[in-house]
This record gives sequence, structure tokens and C-alpha cells, in this order.
Amino acid sequence: DFDLIIRGGYILDGTGGEAFEADIGISGNYIKEIGQILSVRGKSVIEAKDLVVCPGFIDAHDHTDVELLANPKAESSIRQGITTLVSGNCGSSPFPVAEEIYEESKANLKELLQLDLTWRDINGFFSRLEEKGIALNYSTLVGQGAIRGAAMGFNDRPPSQKELEKMKKMVAENIEQGAVGLSTGLEYTPGSYAKADEIIELCRVAAQNGGVYATHMRDEGDKLIESLDESIEAARKTGVSLQISHYKIAYPRNWHKIDAALAKIEE
Ligand SMILES: [Zn+2]
Repeated sequence: DFDLIIRGGYILDGTGGEAFEADIGISGNYIKEIGQILSVRGKSVIEAKDLVVCPGFIDAHDHTDVELLANPKAESSIRQGITTLVSGNCGSSPFPVAEEIYEESKANLKELLQLDLTWRDINGFFSRLEEKGIALNYSTLVGQGAIRGAAMGFNDRPPSQKELEKMKKMVAENIEQGAVGLSTGLEYTPGSYAKADEIIELCRVAAQNGGVYATHMRDEGDKLIESLDESIEAARKTGVSLQISHYKIAYPRNWHKIDAALAKIEE
């Protein structure tokens, strides 16, 4: 009757309800029945007594990126119960690849992971993942650092109007082609060369295209509060959904700011 039965586990179905003990009958890609199911009805049976059975976790802050091509089984995620990744965080995504570092990136990828760089954009990267076949669901943000590098090189200066338009177009295109939003890593070059107003422009485009905004803030220590203000302002002004990545306060001398920082988010 079923391809697979998972027997006798404690089911946490993800709705927030209490765990309950039951068997799960699966055929193809679908759960067909939950309840008391006889073992003989399954082509294969997994005994899950004393174990928890639940939907796969989503890792909302993943940096697997190109490594998924080198290690498509992603066991370090799978074995933690993670079945969906949100990659491309902290301003860094494997696409678009800036022309001026294409050859260098190609050489690095070969040396570090024995991989051939065959893509320049998100579509090319998705195709490679599809060809390879991966063990989990992959989604990705597009990195603002990657976009800035591709649009205007690795220069510490404000963009020209034309370069800004180019970046905005890239944000829109990447989201249209499957990115779930925009990420920044404002402690890393070249993303950090962007001032707040430039980020706001890009967030507006992300919001208009249904994307979220995940930020590794400009400062996670002495200027945490200022960085929080910058992040929240970007969301307020553009309506983009904001995620503050790996939220923390660095250095003991800043720890006392935690209440004020949390209050800002609450507000
Ligand atoms: Zn980060």
C-alpha cells in the first residue's frame, strides 16, 4: 500500500501542537496516511520508536553556496534534520560573478574544490546544481557584495547613477530568476563600500519584487545600535521584510546594550 512506513515515532507536525505517537504511510513524494498502520502495508519500514518525526528544518542562514557542488549530499545539514537551505548570505553569493575576478575565481574554485566555474549568473548556477543533483532543497539570496562587484568593480566610492541603476536591475533580475531576496555583509568589502542610501535603493527593488532583506550589519559591536538603526530604517522606508543575521553583541564592553537593542526591534 505504501512505499515507506515510518513507524511509532513521536510526530511533531510543525503546527505547534503536542507530539503524538503514530505511523506515517508515504507513497512517492507524499504522506498518504497518519495513524495506526500495519507494517505489512509498507514496501519498506523505518522503526522510529522513541524518536521524533517532524518536517525538515529550514536553515535560514546558510553559507554552503558553491560547496554544495563539491558535496551534494550535504550531510552536515541533512544529519541535523535540515532539508532546506537559504544560502547566499552576508552579501556573498556565487553569482553574479564579476568580470574582473572571473579568471581568479575560476582558478580558486579549481584549486580549492576541484570545480569548474561555468556560470556567471544565478541561472547558470542553478543549472549546475540541477545537473549535479543535490540531497536537499536549496534556495538563495543574492549578495549585494557580489552585485556591487559585478556592477562597478571593487571600488571604495559611491556608484554613479548608471551603476546604481545597474545594481537595481540586477537585484530585480536575480529575484525574478529565483533568489528569495537580497543579502548584505556590510563588514566585508566590496559590500561595505555602500552607504545606507545605496542599500535603501536596493531594498526598495527587493521589496517591489517580493524579496526579503537579510543583513549582516555594518557593525556588531561598538556601533551595534547605529547599525540596527540603519537596518530598521531600510525596512521602514521600503517596506522590505528585514532579517538581522546572526544577531549578537560583540565584546563584553558592549553587552550592556542588549536591552536597548532588543527594545528597538520590539518597537
Ligand atoms: Zn555574516
